[in-house]
Amino acid sequence: MKNIRKTEARKRIALVAHDNKKAELIEWAVYNKISLARHELVATGTTGKLLEEELDRPVKKMLSGPLGGDQQIGAMIAEGKIDVLIFFWDPMEAQPHDSDVKALLRLGVAWNILLACDRSTADFILTSPLMQDDYEIIIPDYSGYMNRKVIK
Ligand code: PGA
Repeated sequence: MKNIRKTEARKRIALVAHDNKKAELIEWAVYNKISLARHELVATGTTGKLLEEELDRPVKKMLSGPLGGDQQIGAMIAEGKIDVLIFFWDPMEAQPHDSDVKALLRLGVAWNILLACDRSTADFILTSPLMQDDYEIIIPDYSGYMNRKVIK
């Protein structure tokens, strides 16, 4: 039997943007303000502050990404508390917290959540009819890993 996690019509969306991508994310969010109003928003500190100002609505703000915010959102993904991750990472600049960036992307895939790293994909996710409906996320089967033999 498959392990599933039910998401509701009101999804929990995490938003993260690197500094060179913040303007693009904000523009996208403002353009999609009405659609986003149906969902709960979580963000890394600075991205969240900008979103709150521009969207004029509350956004749950974690620490700034490089100070632990990426890892906080990663932990929420692992705990099944995030349904969608919109992560505009900067492909043109190395980040001081590259390891956190990689970890966040890895957890998004590890838990099979919806994950957009660019604006086109974010558009497709947000306009999908599944965004306004209950949806069952299939949790990958990690039982083999969990039950592996570890030499004591
Ligand atoms: P910030 O973090 O929103 O606090 O700038 C973004 C990031 O993860 O780099």
